[in-house]
Amino acid sequence: MISKEDCPFCNINDRVLKSNRLAQAFLSNPRKVPGHFLVTPKRHLEKPWELTKDELQDIFELIFFIEERLVSKLGQGADIRQNYRPFISAGRLKQNHVHFHVYPRYYQDYLYQVSEKFETDLFTDLDPSEQAEFAKLLKSNDAKD
Ligand SMILES: [Zn+2]
Repeated sequence: MISKEDCPFCNINDRVLKSNRLAQAFLSNPRKVPGHFLVTPKRHLEKPWELTKDELQDIFELIFFIEERLVSKLGQGADIRQNYRPFISAGRLKQNHVHFHVYPRYYQDYLYQVSEKFETDLFTDLDPSEQAEFAKLLKSNDAKD
């Protein structure tokens, strides 16, 4: 596990463009598109479900502030995304400090053209047994039941 001292998001003070008490926002480097922001808690943690209610409030306050600015000043829309992929080692494209991506979107933009125009093939009708399976998952007291 990467330590707080080695974590780039724990030591990013000079790149922070907007912050509040418990969260911070800065431009992703590398980035997918111009205006690709990352919003993180100031506290180092890896699992998003370990965020406190106060941290969530401050994080989403920044996310929606940035989203509104991006949409009103730059784009036609925006994506908000959080990836939890512990099976990938930390590196230039993956950090263990929990973060949310916010970036502007446009009708059939570059992301759509290079990777998303094929995604419609991934959608399939929901099977009733699958519905029941995931309903059971959410009703159990432990995710491992
Ligand atoms: Zn960190």
